[in-house]
Amino acid sequence: MMRKYLTYILMLGFPLLGAQTKVAEKAAYQEKWTSLDTQNTAMAFDADVKLSDAEIALDKKLFQIRKQFLTETEKQHIPLYSRSFNEIKPLIESSKLFKVIQTMPKGALLHTHSGGLANAEWLIAAARKYKECYVYDQKDNDQFIFGQLGFFENGKVPNGFVNLNQKLNSDAGFEKQLHELLLLKRDNLCSYTDYWIEFEKRFQRINLLLPYRPFFKEYYLKGFQDLAKDNVQHVEIRYIFDELYDFEHGKYPLEKTITDLQEIVKQMRQTNPQFSLKLIYSSFKFLDSESIEKQLDIAFKLKKQFPDMISGFDLVADEAAGNSINSFQKNWTKINEITKKSGIEMPLFLHAGESNSVFNKNVLDITLLNNQRIGHGLNLVYFPKSMELIKQQNKLVEVSPISNQILGYVSDLRNHPARVLLSSGVQCSINSDDPAVYGYEGLSYDFWVAYINWELDVKALKKLVFNSINYSSLNKNEKKQAVEYLNTQWNDFVQIANQQLN
Ligand SMILES: [Zn+2]
Repeated sequence: MMRKYLTYILMLGFPLLGAQTKVAEKAAYQEKWTSLDTQNTAMAFDADVKLSDAEIALDKKLFQIRKQFLTETEKQHIPLYSRSFNEIKPLIESSKLFKVIQTMPKGALLHTHSGGLANAEWLIAAARKYKECYVYDQKDNDQFIFGQLGFFENGKVPNGFVNLNQKLNSDAGFEKQLHELLLLKRDNLCSYTDYWIEFEKRFQRINLLLPYRPFFKEYYLKGFQDLAKDNVQHVEIRYIFDELYDFEHGKYPLEKTITDLQEIVKQMRQTNPQFSLKLIYSSFKFLDSESIEKQLDIAFKLKKQFPDMISGFDLVADEAAGNSINSFQKNWTKINEITKKSGIEMPLFLHAGESNSVFNKNVLDITLLNNQRIGHGLNLVYFPKSMELIKQQNKLVEVSPISNQILGYVSDLRNHPARVLLSSGVQCSINSDDPAVYGYEGLSYDFWVAYINWELDVKALKKLVFNSINYSSLNKNEKKQAVEYLNTQWNDFVQIANQQLN
C-alpha cells in the first residue's frame, strides 16, 4: 500500500506540485508585466485625460476605421509607410478617417509662418486680377528668380518682368509651371533635393507680393478662412515684418500691418465669432547679434503698442546654416534688462532642434531661457537631460509632421521622434508650419498622418487639441473663453461623429 502511494506521489504528485508552481510563476510574471504596462502608460503625455462614455465609443469606432483602412491598403499592396505626403495625399483625401478629422475641432494652430498660409492655386488666381502684377520669366540672377512675382507701377517694371495675367493668357502651360514653382514637394522618399534652398526660393517668389497692401489683406483673409473652415479657432503666426505699401500712399509704418490684421480678424469674427490671432515677431538665425538687437528693439516697441497682438520673439531659417541659439546670449540677456526696465515681457518661441544632428545643441538653450514653446524639437530625443527638464518645466513642443517629412528630416512617419516625446510625457501640439508651400490647407492632414502613423487614440487627439489652446499665448481671460468654446465644439463633435459612424 505504502509503496503504491509512493509510486503515486512519484508519478503524479510531484509533477502536480510542479505544475502549481509554474502556474504561480506565470501569474506573478504576468502581474509584473501588467504593472509595467500600466507604468508606461502613466508616463505618457495624455495620462491625465479621462474619456467620457461617448468618447470611448468614438475611440472604438475610429480604431475600427483605421484598421479597415490599413487592411484595405495592405490588400491593394499600397506601400503606405514608404511614400511621401505628396504621393499619398489623394489617398488621405478619399479616406473616411479624413472626413471625420476634418470635422474635429483643432483648437489653435500654434506654429505657422507669414507667407506660408494661403494656397498657391488661390494665390495665382488672386494675383492675376491685379493689372499691376508681374512675373519674372528669365533665368535666376542675384536679384530675381524665375517665377518671382511682384507689383509694379507702369513705367517702373524691372527688366525681365512680364504682366502676370498676359503671361498666363498667352502661355498655356505657364499656370501649371508657376503653381509647381510655388510648392515644395518631396516627390518620393529617395530622390535628392537640397530642400532648404528650394524651400527658401518658394518664399522669395512671393515676398514682393505680400507687402502690397491690397493683396496682403486678401491673402490673410483667405488664409484665416481656410483655417476656420478646418475648425481652427486660434492662430499664432511667426511673423516677418515688412512695411506694407501701395502706389497711392507709398510705404506704411509697421504698425499698419498689425492694425490691418486686426481689421481682418474683425471681419473673420462676423462669421466665426471666436476667431483670434497672435503674432510672434520673427527674425533670422543667419543674422548677427547686432542686427538681432535692432530687431528686438522693434519687437519691444510693437509689443508696447500692441500687447494683445505681439506675443513674443523667434529666430527662423535653416538651423544647419544659421547661428546657434547659444551665440545670441548677449541678446537674451538684453531682453531681461529691457523687461526689468520697461516691465514688458518678451517670451521666446524659438525654433530649436529642427535637425537630425547631435551637433545641433539648440534645445539645450530652451531650458535656460524664458521659452515656453519649442518649434520642432526633432533632435530633443538625443538629449535626455534636456528632455527631462522640458517636461519638468512644462514646456510644449510644436510638432509639424508633414513639414518634417517634406524638408527631409523624417521619411517613414512611424519613426517620427514626437512618438518618443509623447510616450515620455513631453507635451506637444500638432502644426502645419507652411501648408501653402507644401500644397495643402488646414490642419487635418497633419492630424491624419499623426493618427495613422503614431497609432493615436481619441485620448491623445483630445490632449493634442486642448494643448494647443492651453499653451497658446492667449491671455488668461481669452484662454478661459477659448477653452469653453473648444469644450462645446469638442462635445458636439463627439456626439455628431458617434451618430454618423453608427
Ligand atoms: Zn517653422
